[in-house]
Amino acid sequence: MDPQYTIDNLLGASFVCDCGREHSTCFSKLILEEDALQKLPSLLKEYGYQYPYLICDTNTYRVCGQTVCSILDTAQVCYEKIILQSPAEGDLPADEESFGRVCMAFPKESDVVISIGAGTINDLGRYLSYITGREFLLVLTAPSMDGCVSGVAPLIQNHLKITFPAHAPLALIGDLKILSEAPMKMLSAGVGDILGKYNCLTDWKLSALVNQEYYCGTIEGIMRSAIDKTMEAARHLKERRPEDIRTLTEGLVLSGIAMDFAGNSRPASGAEHHLSHFFEMQFLFDGIPAVLHGTKVGIGTVITLGFYNQLANMERPDFDLLRKKAAERPDFETWTKEMKRAYRDGAQMVIELEKKAKKNDPEKLLQRLDQIEVHWEEIQALASSVPKAEEIAGILKSLDAPITPEEVGVCREYVADGILYAKELRDRYTILQLLWDIDKLTQMEESVIK
Ligand SMILES: [Zn+2]
Ligand SMILES: [Zn+2]
Repeated sequence: MDPQYTIDNLLGASFVCDCGREHSTCFSKLILEEDALQKLPSLLKEYGYQYPYLICDTNTYRVCGQTVCSILDTAQVCYEKIILQSPAEGDLPADEESFGRVCMAFPKESDVVISIGAGTINDLGRYLSYITGREFLLVLTAPSMDGCVSGVAPLIQNHLKITFPAHAPLALIGDLKILSEAPMKMLSAGVGDILGKYNCLTDWKLSALVNQEYYCGTIEGIMRSAIDKTMEAARHLKERRPEDIRTLTEGLVLSGIAMDFAGNSRPASGAEHHLSHFFEMQFLFDGIPAVLHGTKVGIGTVITLGFYNQLANMERPDFDLLRKKAAERPDFETWTKEMKRAYRDGAQMVIELEKKAKKNDPEKLLQRLDQIEVHWEEIQALASSVPKAEEIAGILKSLDAPITPEEVGVCREYVADGILYAKELRDRYTILQLLWDIDKLTQMEESVIK
């Protein structure tokens, strides 16, 4: 494997890795340049598509969709389009209503789906393309999140975010001029999603120590190089230089490729994403307009890196005492009551997961405590390796991004519940579960609330 980890080396890559596994990704075409949209007609011709279905919202149509339409008109390509109304406040939700509209306007003769947008528009198009068996192309309008080339689409069903299978795009086309003119809150959200990797890569290594979970240094290297470059680009992002926008966009694409290589989202999502998902669920239940994914991830990252910073200086726990008290943790019934309160309509999903995963069972806890005790020095060294939460907060702040849950309207109660219970969303070991294991999570939660 080329140690350079450049995107050109990794597009469509397939190789046997030092970790013993074979890694591959189907995503192979990235057109990221000024006037990239002009290449769309020849790209359609190359793939043999004649009748695309374009999905936009009023914002993305204005900044990009109308140019795409005039380019297709000039090239005499027939197409159908839908323009969803962007809400006055917040972002368009990827829910039943939006998806219903997209489906109802879909012409069955269409042979390819093209989303023109970022988060929601991309998710809607990827899922439509999957259920209709059409291929999918993405015209990116803002580098705001890392799901752009992923093979799953998170959609909202009954006020719950559910992950649906989806088509990854055959190609991603981004006009650097359009991308660099994206609203600063979208650019800073993209940065937030990348900076979150500081946490999730550490969570991954933590789990490798505590649970002997599979771990790959090559995949970590790919993500580390994306973070390093993004950190550098973030310093100039307000100048909107095309080279920095390219770095950010490539970082987000690399993150999708890393997930393909790992076969799941481990290299791109840990406790910072679980916190973001938890806050998002509360927004959905309360009917509050959505906040950009990467913005919430940035906020979650500041919290979880703060926990790692504290872990690095923590006194060695009394493991014998922790073992003795393992049976005193809340039993399943008490825990279930708490889940019903904190997760409301989403509680059943979390409860079913715990029945299978048994993360909080005393027996599993005891096994993990043994491993944590054996690896305590390594765990603290790992915790010392992450950047200071204040440094990351400073970068986000310099881009005018919110850095606390309060700034995006998350109340104290949800922050407290998120820290205590966001770990129940997935069966994935993170800093939050480790702090629970050593009985420090409540203390951490109280320190954040203070
Ligand atoms: Zn590997
Ligand atoms: Zn993300």
